[in-house]
Amino acid sequence: MNKKVRVRFAPSPTGGLHLGGVRTVLFNYLFAKKHGGDFILRIEDTDQTRFVPGAEEYIFQTLEWCGLIPDESPKHGGPHAPYRQSERKAMYMQYAEQLVQAGYAYYAFDTPEELEAMRNDFKTAENPSPQYNQFIREKMRNSLTLGEEEVTRLISEGMPFVIRIKMPAGETVSFTDMIRGEVSFQTDQVDDKVLLKADGMPTYHLAVVVDDYLMKISHAFRGEEWLPSAPVHILLWKYLGWENEMPEWAHLPLILKPDGNGKLSKRDGDRLGFPVFAMDWTDPKTNETTIGFRERGFLPEAFVNLLAMLGWNDGTDQEIFTITELIEKFSMDRVHKGGAKFDYEKAKWYNHEWIKQSDATKLAPFVQQILAANNIDVTDSNILHHVIDLVKERCTLLSDFTAQSRFFFQSPTQIDIDAIKPKWDEKKNLFFTELIRAYELSTLWEASDLEKEFKELAAANQLKPGELMLPFRIMLVGGKFGPGVFDIAALIGKIETVARIKHTLGLLS
Ligand code: GLU
Repeated sequence: MNKKVRVRFAPSPTGGLHLGGVRTVLFNYLFAKKHGGDFILRIEDTDQTRFVPGAEEYIFQTLEWCGLIPDESPKHGGPHAPYRQSERKAMYMQYAEQLVQAGYAYYAFDTPEELEAMRNDFKTAENPSPQYNQFIREKMRNSLTLGEEEVTRLISEGMPFVIRIKMPAGETVSFTDMIRGEVSFQTDQVDDKVLLKADGMPTYHLAVVVDDYLMKISHAFRGEEWLPSAPVHILLWKYLGWENEMPEWAHLPLILKPDGNGKLSKRDGDRLGFPVFAMDWTDPKTNETTIGFRERGFLPEAFVNLLAMLGWNDGTDQEIFTITELIEKFSMDRVHKGGAKFDYEKAKWYNHEWIKQSDATKLAPFVQQILAANNIDVTDSNILHHVIDLVKERCTLLSDFTAQSRFFFQSPTQIDIDAIKPKWDEKKNLFFTELIRAYELSTLWEASDLEKEFKELAAANQLKPGELMLPFRIMLVGGKFGPGVFDIAALIGKIETVARIKHTLGLLS
């Protein structure tokens, strides 16, 4: 690669970030870091009608939570500031004018009513929504149909106009996509897109090309939904005389529903019982907060890992990758052309793997926060670390730590007596009464000591330890779950262990 690698993620702040959007961020980021390049975040807010307050902050927070920090952005600054297109408004006009002067674009004066009339007049069964294209343009009020004098007069009178690209007739526009290979479009299929709006604001099509050029973008990676716009962009690069500077393109495959072939949407997220959005977010339209991956108890590392595997692999069976490994192994040639299926069960599997392999120090802040939110006070961080090591294998989501560790910090309020009762008898009652005494006198309180005493006492009473374990577990935990019982007893201490046995014996008598 001869050019310095500079990639960009260019979201429009129109709502929450979709899974596919965060994956686009990730692939940009990985590519930039792998090649020692820069990752730029540019806010494409030229469509003010679709602007959603808070959406930009949401994007920053998502990137931060994922650990995918841009080198240049509206927040981080950089040599090509401003990075918000609305703040760059004044820069675009000259390029639109340059295109008009060169004959690649034209002024169009059509009013909304005239455009509406055009759509009605030219509507046919085969073409229910006619576009402003090479055929229609000849019938409309623009600088191609009106005389030069008339155009000058209209402009001097302050008649509002837009600037449209003049799509050439009968040409083929081709480019090489890093994922798809050679891609071609017939210009006849593409309409004369507006480049500059009546208020002087550029549209996405003009702004994306101008900014990718001015910001020296070397590679433009974006979702497959932008592929149909590519011919317009390629022509603009050429018409503006920047063809040699054009970035290399890659259009990333869609993310599909697990059960069908369609694209995953927010509605599917809801239908499948989970939202697609990555973070909590109050939708200003509905005033609803979406629970995202973070709130569901995903670790950022697991989320990034599972995103990377949506449409990419390193050519081996390896599925668990740290960000450092992803940076090292990532390559665009291994991104699949076909859509990647998103499976929530598989997503949880990644999280479980990550929880298992993370050490207690790393998990502690997340767990402590979740426990606090569930009114479980943790004062001793050594105990918390110990608890995490004991239960993490059993936690798929971080939220599972609540049920899996509450009994270490609080006596269970519910005891599953029904699970003990059917096999309860006087012999067992006697055993536990004696166990209380033995434990009270015990000077050693390691799990192994407790187990030894328990088993010796069982043998003395001619009982099988196996039959006593379940009642003991229920006494300490409240139900049939949790790590080793002697580990639990060792950690909660003598007073609490004895009190819990006594409490259940009371319930049983
Ligand atoms: N603003 C476009 C979006 O919202 C960016 C597309 C591109 O990266 O060119 O996705």
